[in-house]
Amino acid sequence: MLDIKIEKATNLKAKTPDDQLGFGRIFTDHMFIMDYDAGQGWHDARIVPYGPISLDPSSVVFHYAQECFEGLKAYRTAENKIQLFRPDCNARRMNNTHARLCIPEIPVEDFIQAIKTLVEVEKDWVPHSEGSSLYIRPFTIATMAQLGVHASTQYKFMVICSPSGAYYKEGLAPVKIYVEDTYVRACPGGTGFTKCGGNYAVSLLAGEKAEKKGYSQVLWLDSQERKYVEEVGAMNIFFKIDGKVYTANAEEQDGTVLPGVTRRSIIELLRDWGYEVVEGKLAIDTVMAAAKEGKLEEVFGSGTAAVVSPVKQLDYEDQSAFINNGEIGPLTQKLYDTMTGMQWGKLPDTKGWILPV
Ligand code: PMP
Repeated sequence: MLDIKIEKATNLKAKTPDDQLGFGRIFTDHMFIMDYDAGQGWHDARIVPYGPISLDPSSVVFHYAQECFEGLKAYRTAENKIQLFRPDCNARRMNNTHARLCIPEIPVEDFIQAIKTLVEVEKDWVPHSEGSSLYIRPFTIATMAQLGVHASTQYKFMVICSPSGAYYKEGLAPVKIYVEDTYVRACPGGTGFTKCGGNYAVSLLAGEKAEKKGYSQVLWLDSQERKYVEEVGAMNIFFKIDGKVYTANAEEQDGTVLPGVTRRSIIELLRDWGYEVVEGKLAIDTVMAAAKEGKLEEVFGSGTAAVVSPVKQLDYEDQSAFINNGEIGPLTQKLYDTMTGMQWGKLPDTKGWILPV
């Protein structure tokens, strides 16, 4: 159990109307901070007014990117209760990231307590309108002041919150995806399974290239052969081909795909519903051929932000795959309805995935 000291802000910010929230631009009144020093461990857990922090310019995080983050949401139900979705999964994933980056781990229960306590303090910031939520961003940075390339002996673990508007204002919108065959996001033995900032820094160039060509995301292929599908932008990706559902493996030993909490939940739901889900290598050529044969039934990305993002078109080299006539597939829609139903408390939590705040 953490002993969390709470210092309340004296001037509270005005709340932005839900329809103007967007994503990640507005921050709440408070933030959580906890320090780590070798010898002392994690200490001084506190909630303080949101604001800038002061760091030595030589801090390890600025030079060697020893840092990482997580992302999850708090949802307001029709009964005005506030709830989290599988925060234990984020806690464990963060610790896997910490371990890969030589950052000391944070007990799962402390991670959850920090988030629950902060969301409780900020409960008025959880928006009310359909599809909106409070996005929660835990992160850890290496704060030791030194330029030698060594793991830091000092860290800050922090949590900030940002009210965010509905991802889909006008219903699920199928997107066009560019299959990236030059740049890669992750390689075996690397950090693809972690949420370290470096993974996102290296993805920006391909993202910009795709955006300039009119695509909303890139589909990443494997780094060795540029042959197998991995992820799409900052989402996992699923393909329904001839009744079976395929997604890339997200095991740590492969190490190239982020094990999404949404991905894992979707796999569990699909198996409950009797679908065969194959977690493994799927060649982009197989996907394109399935589209030609009329067997590529549905394609969708999965992630905390969008829940599911239906794909209507995949462009790979000089070929295009058109999916389901640009319409949302029935399975994609069912997954969306089931996941959002549980998250916003419209459906019973039959899986034990909801944690009330
Ligand atoms: N892949 C990447 C690279 C991501 O950044 C995310 C978002 N965290 C995901 C997949 C989806 O993960 P989750 O379902 O946990 O949001």
